[in-house]
Amino acid sequence: MKPGILKSVATLLQVDGEIQEREERFRALVQNSFDIITIHDSVGKTIYESPAASRIVGYPPGSLIGRTPFRAVHPADVDRAREAFQTLATGSDPVFIELRYRHADGSWIWLETLGNNLLEHPGVRGVVLTSRDVTERKHAEERAQYLANYDVLTGLPNRTLMYDRVSQAVANAKRSRERIALMHVGVDRFKMINDSLGHEVGDQILKSAAERIKRCMGDSSTAARVGGDEFTILFPAAESLGDVTACAARILSEMARPFPGAREDVFVSASIGVSMFPDDSRSADALSKHADAAMHSAKTLGRNNYQFFTRELNEEVQQRMVLETGLRLALKRDEMRLVYQPKVNLATREIIGAEALLRWHHPKHGLISPARFIPVAEESGLVGQIGEWVLRDACRQIRDWQEMGLSPQIAVNVSARQFQQYDVAQLVSDVTSEAQVSPESLEIELTESAIMNDAEASIVTVEKLKCLGVRVSIDDFGTGYSSLSYLKRLPLDLLKIDRSFVRDISIDPNDAAIVRAIITLAHNLGMKVIAEGVEDDAQMAFLTEYGCQYAQGFLFGQPMRAEELTSRMLPREERAATN
Ligand code: C2E
Ligand code: MG
Ligand code: MG
Repeated sequence: MKPGILKSVATLLQVDGEIQEREERFRALVQNSFDIITIHDSVGKTIYESPAASRIVGYPPGSLIGRTPFRAVHPADVDRAREAFQTLATGSDPVFIELRYRHADGSWIWLETLGNNLLEHPGVRGVVLTSRDVTERKHAEERAQYLANYDVLTGLPNRTLMYDRVSQAVANAKRSRERIALMHVGVDRFKMINDSLGHEVGDQILKSAAERIKRCMGDSSTAARVGGDEFTILFPAAESLGDVTACAARILSEMARPFPGAREDVFVSASIGVSMFPDDSRSADALSKHADAAMHSAKTLGRNNYQFFTRELNEEVQQRMVLETGLRLALKRDEMRLVYQPKVNLATREIIGAEALLRWHHPKHGLISPARFIPVAEESGLVGQIGEWVLRDACRQIRDWQEMGLSPQIAVNVSARQFQQYDVAQLVSDVTSEAQVSPESLEIELTESAIMNDAEASIVTVEKLKCLGVRVSIDDFGTGYSSLSYLKRLPLDLLKIDRSFVRDISIDPNDAAIVRAIITLAHNLGMKVIAEGVEDDAQMAFLTEYGCQYAQGFLFGQPMRAEELTSRMLPREERAATN
C-alpha cells in the first residue's frame, strides 16, 4: 500500500472517531439535560424523549414515544398548544409556550416549552421541544397575584381589585346607560371589640361578617373588604333603588344577629352608605368617596342604619317605604279599584272591549298612579298578591257583563316580575274557572321586557295561555327591545303601539315612519294592531289609513268606572231605558 493512501485512511478513521466522539458528547448532554427534550415528527408524534421526561412528568421511560403530546395537555391550553405546534412545524421561527400538562399522578404541572423546527436538519429531521417544569414559579406567581387582589382573612376581593371592578362597571354603565350602586358597610365600634376581646375574636367576627354580607347579595353584585372593618358592595346594574335598600336592610339585620365569641356572644351593628352612578357620582373615585361619606353620616345618625349620599335619594327611599307600607294594607283596606278604558274598532267605532287599569286611593296621599306603585309592588314582592286581586276583580266584572248579555274583551296588565315569578297561566286557569267566565273574553297584556327577559320561558307560558283560549298582547311596543326571531315564535294576538309614537304621528315624520313599520311588522307576523294614547282625529285618520285595526285613548274615552262602560256598551234603546 502506498504511504499516501495509508495517510488518508488514517485521517478518515480519525475524522470518524471525532464524529463519534462529538455525537456521544451531544447524546450525553441531551440524556443528562435537566430539561425535557423531545423530538416529534411533522404531525406531532414523539420519536424521541430524553430521560428527564419520565422524571418530570412521571410516566415510565419511553411512554411518550409514538404519541402526540396533546392528549395530556390541559383542556384550556390544548387549542393554543396545537396552534403553536402547527406554526412551528410549518415555519422556521422558534416558538415559546407555557401550558399545563397532566402528571402521571393526575396533578397538573406547568411546562415552559421552547420549540425549534429541525425537520430539514439532516442530523435531526424532527421538531425539537425543550420543556422545563415551572410549576413552582407559576404557583408563586398565582399566589402573588392572589395576594395583590384578595384579602387573605375573608377571601374577598381587596380594595385594589374592587377599584378595578368599579371602574369597569362605570365604563360599562356609561355605554349601556345603566345605574350603579356602591354600598359601603362599616362594622360599628370594631376597634373597641378588637381592643377588648383580642385580635383573634376580631378576625373571627370579620370573617363571619364577610360570610353574612355575601349571603345578603344577589349573584350580580360583588363584595370586597376595603379596610380593616369596612366592606364594599358593588351593584353593577342597580335599576331599582328598592333592590339596593332591600339588600342594605338584610345586611343590617344579619349584622345585628349575635356573633359567637370565645366565651360569650358578641353584638355588633353596621352603618351603611350608598352612592349611585350617575345620580350623585360620575366616576369610580367619586362613587367610593360618596359611599364613604354616606356611611359616616349613617354613623353620625346613630349607627345601625343606611343612608344615601344625596338628600334626594334619601327622600325617594323614604317615600318608597311609605308606599310599600301602604301597599301592604291597601287590599285589606279596600283601597284598590279597577277602572276600564274602552278599546274601539277603528272601522266601525264600536267598543270591542276595554283595558282594566288599577287605581289606588291612598287615605292620606290621595290617588296614586300605577306607574308609581307597580314598581314598588314588584320590588317588595307584593305584585303577586295585587296581580291576583286584579285578575279576580276583572273576571268578576266580566261575568257581570256576560250576565247582562255583553261580551267585551277585557285586557289585564301583567307586570314583568309577576310574569316571571308566578305561574300566570295556572292563575288564569284557576280564576276564570272559579268566576265561570270563558277565557276567550280575557286578554293578558305583557310588556316587551317581561317577554324578552327570558324569551324561551315566555314562549312556554304564552303557549299555555293560548291553550286556555286567552288572548295575549304585547304592550308599549317599541319602548323596550324585542328580538324579532322570538317575536316570530311567540303566538301573540295583538301588538299595542306605545303612546309615545302615537303622540306626534301626524307631525313627526320619524314617528309616522315607525308606526307604519310597526303596523306592517305586526301584520306580517299575523298579529292585529292597536294604538294606545289616541287623543285626536288626525292621529285616528293616520292610523286608519295605514291599516291599524283598533285604538284606545282619550279620544274614545278615559279610564272609567265599570258602570259607565256598561252604559256605553248597551244599545242606545237600553241605555235610554236605564237612564
Ligand atoms: P299601560 O298598560 O300602557 O296603560 C295605558 C296608560 O295610558 C294608562 O295609564 C292610561 O290611563 C293611559 N292613557 C290611555 N289613553 C291615554 C291617552 O289618550 N293619553 C294619555 N296621555 N294617556 C293615556 P295608567 O292607568 O296611569 O297606567 C299606567 C301603567 O301602569 C299602565 O300602562 C300599566 O303598565 C300599569 N298598570 C296599570 N294597571 C295595572 C295593573 O292592574 N297591573 C299591572 N301590572 N300594571 C298596571
Ligand atoms: Mg296596558
Ligand atoms: Mg301601554
